[in-house]
Amino acid sequence: MAERACTDCKRIVEDSDECPVCKSNVLSNSWSGLVVVYDADSQIAEEVGVQTPGQYAIRVK
Ligand SMILES: [Zn+2]
Repeated sequence: MAERACTDCKRIVEDSDECPVCKSNVLSNSWSGLVVVYDADSQIAEEVGVQTPGQYAIRVK
């Protein structure tokens, strides 16, 4: 299964039909850019607006 991005929180979701972060099942194949957040307190996490470490898309259609 390809990687898809959650349309709510932009989390990259692999091999699942449900976002592990927000439990949304609305996943998109149309996303671009990739940010890896290692630390939820880092500046990049703040910029992307995430509270959980992981991989996130920059843009999700
Ligand atoms: Zn999500």
